[in-house]
Amino acid sequence: MEDERQDLSRLFNRIERPVVCSRCADEVAAGQAGAVSMQEYARLDVGFSPVGLQVWCRRHSVNVVHLDFGGHRLPADFRCIERPAPDAIS
Ligand SMILES: [Zn+2]
Repeated sequence: MEDERQDLSRLFNRIERPVVCSRCADEVAAGQAGAVSMQEYARLDVGFSPVGLQVWCRRHSVNVVHLDFGGHRLPADFRCIERPAPDAIS
């Protein structure tokens, strides 16, 4: 566990398959959202619920996904790191 906490690379964006609202995705695909990407169009709330973690589409007021942890407490890393700006490196 300690070795895993030392590996800061996992705190960078490693998302391979984004979670999207299917209704938002349909609107973007149909061009109804204008010339925007799915990432720009999405308006998602993400948070813990009584059973796990829920993703909610604010645009459509619908559930996107609700992960049920089954009563388990999963490891989570809330640390935030930022790469220094290129001009800050001398
Ligand atoms: Zn939506």
